[in-house]
Amino acid sequence: MKNAGAYVNPQKCDRSPFCPARKACPAKAISQAKLGLLARGPAVVDQEKCTACGTCVTMCPHGAIIIRKGKQKKRA
Ligand code: SF4
Repeated sequence: MKNAGAYVNPQKCDRSPFCPARKACPAKAISQAKLGLLARGPAVVDQEKCTACGTCVTMCPHGAIIIRKGKQKKRA
């Protein structure tokens, strides 16, 4: 079974350079490609860093992030 983790629906992500979910992630697991001064790609979650804490789910204003269930990761 895969590890639990956060996944972004790129259709719902508004690609804001001020993404509150990215800023709130305690593991710094969320990134966005820089496409210009203020243009960003959709948020992407690094599954190696994600602890499935769920903070980003509550911070995303568009409901673009879900936690997929799976094997729980060990906490640091
Ligand atoms: S679930 Fe937690 S660790 Fe994973 S991307 Fe969201 S805020 Fe970061």
